[in-house]
Amino acid sequence: MTRQIGCLLLAAALCALTGCGSAAEAASDGATSQTASSAVQTVQETEEIPSSTQQVFAMDTYMTVTAYGDQAAAAVSAAVEEIQRLDALWSVGESDSEISILNDSGSILLSEETAELVERSLTLYEETEGAFDITIYPLMVEWGFTSGEYQVPTQERIDELLELVGSDKLEYDAETCQLTLPEGMAIDLGGIAKGYVSSHIMDVFEEYGVVSGMVSLGGNVQTYRTKTDGSLWRVGIENPDATVEALSGVDYVGVLSVEDKAVITSGGYERYFEEDGVTYHHILDPSTGSSARSGLLSVTIVSEDGTLADGLSTSLFVMGKERALEYWAAHSDEFDAVLVEEDGSVTITGGLKDCFESDLEYTCVEN
Ligand code: ADP
Ligand code: MG
Repeated sequence: MTRQIGCLLLAAALCALTGCGSAAEAASDGATSQTASSAVQTVQETEEIPSSTQQVFAMDTYMTVTAYGDQAAAAVSAAVEEIQRLDALWSVGESDSEISILNDSGSILLSEETAELVERSLTLYEETEGAFDITIYPLMVEWGFTSGEYQVPTQERIDELLELVGSDKLEYDAETCQLTLPEGMAIDLGGIAKGYVSSHIMDVFEEYGVVSGMVSLGGNVQTYRTKTDGSLWRVGIENPDATVEALSGVDYVGVLSVEDKAVITSGGYERYFEEDGVTYHHILDPSTGSSARSGLLSVTIVSEDGTLADGLSTSLFVMGKERALEYWAAHSDEFDAVLVEEDGSVTITGGLKDCFESDLEYTCVEN
């Protein structure tokens, strides 16, 4: 399945659960205009609370922003503008983005928000012992994940490019926010940027007095307060592989009932190609330079902090179950997780005990 179809399915799944606008509409907009952002806006009265929803294609995915409140329309418009602004700032596909300028020139004074996201990324690099690494970019390019011209590089080429990977090789001055890349190195914030964006939209909602809202950024969901009737938002976790016997016949691995939380999933099924019967996906293990093969099909992170949730969904996918659960045990006050293994086993962490529902058998680990 291509990423596009995956996004469409997930958008549809999320809409089914959260009652947002037309996924098909968003998908067809994006499909006809892959590079330009497009938006559809509707304003309607629901239970006398004005609401607004916009769909937009940005950061290579379909996004939906929904808000309720007297200034719902203004809040959603401002949120969409912010999505487009941050996309333009960080897109590696646009030659005039801040990240592209850095990658081309090798050194730049980072703007405040880019500095914040780079600093979060460097902290995660250390905390995850290198599982999360924004310097993986040259390998993303070599494998063709940035262009769609997929290829399996030779081991020699992978080893050569691994010399350019390692966030510890970056020179960053936190005082001046000057970031310098050693020759040949390049960075990509794709593993964490959407989470930053969804967290940032929560601030926009706050500013506009939104009473209830949510964003869905290509499978990354962040919810603001509860639904307008006071009930919790219900966010489905997509089935990462229905061909696995233990996962067959279900659309969702489970449903999480949440408020004020980001629910962010990473999985190898989101973008991949096959060659000689082997599947290669877009989450790379920085220790091997190839697709992470950790025994996991997907990792969902639940946290108030969207940036953390996005960074950790990628990281824990790379780490595999054992290391992921050890990491959770040391940081259980910051996030919870749902891990789906290749054999279909589902494991949730203790904080989700009362908000996770599933038709499947699952294990809950406590700290
Ligand atoms: P998605 O963006 O598809 O929802 P992720 O959040 O897991 O999924 O991010 C995957 C993206 O992160 C890749 O497309 C690539 O840009 C980047 N990436 C891949 N491997 C790593 C890694 N080990 N550390 C940091 N970023 C990564
Ligand atoms: Mg991520």
